[in-house]
Amino acid sequence: MDRREAMLRELNLYPAWVRREPVPDAVSLSHADSVSAMPEAISVKEEGGTELPLFEQPAPTVQKSAEDSLREFQMKIAGGPLADTDWPELKEKVMGCELCGLRAGCTQTVFGSGNAAADWLFIGEAPGVDEDATGEPFVGHAGHLLDNMLLAIRLKRSEVYIANVIKCRPPEDRHPHVGEIDACLPYLRRQIDLIRPKIIVALGKTAASALLETDATIASLRGQLHEYKGIPVVVTFHPAYLLRSPMEKAKAWQDLCLAVQTMR
Ligand code: SF4
Repeated sequence: MDRREAMLRELNLYPAWVRREPVPDAVSLSHADSVSAMPEAISVKEEGGTELPLFEQPAPTVQKSAEDSLREFQMKIAGGPLADTDWPELKEKVMGCELCGLRAGCTQTVFGSGNAAADWLFIGEAPGVDEDATGEPFVGHAGHLLDNMLLAIRLKRSEVYIANVIKCRPPEDRHPHVGEIDACLPYLRRQIDLIRPKIIVALGKTAASALLETDATIASLRGQLHEYKGIPVVVTFHPAYLLRSPMEKAKAWQDLCLAVQTMR
């Protein structure tokens, strides 16, 4: 046992410093009060008068909120690695992504499909059961309806790009949660930066809300042009909704006509 350890043991300060005075009620103190109540440092004098620090108060730590952590994470992937990511690297990042809980419950990620240099970008919500099985977006009944919508404006799938806000299938095909959207959105944003489409058609509320950062209803967003980074955005119903509410197809047709007019 060295001299320092012996002295600490004698002072009952070894192996760890233990505060003897009663701990103030943390709940009743403000942060400033609690910090000022803490000793700055404790030290003892060695023989010869040299100050020997025994305990130094660590810098006060601030508890990170979930929002802070998410913001930090978004900065990390959007402002860091993703900002310079090219198409193959982005695909690889999405394939290996486990940043939210959805990846654990799905079969595979669904990156998107079509022409990566397309003028038209269609954005849906998230993969469903068929998309999860095939790795392609919009391949079930809703996908078939989307194909018909495209044909109605003389477009083929191979001429457009189709992606979702969320790349992994949510369990039971529920709507994605806000945290999941926030986590996945940087991938879509990077896809848009790389595709540089001339028009975006947001299919449903999730796509419209995520892109336009609004909680407004589809009804209030339809029928007018919006903008994302200078790109015109048309909002319409998700094909899955149109399958359940075929009476709304006429409105979806109006929305597509608005998009076609915008592109002329
Ligand atoms: S949904 Fe998006 S953020 Fe979540 S694990 Fe899949 S790719 Fe990553």
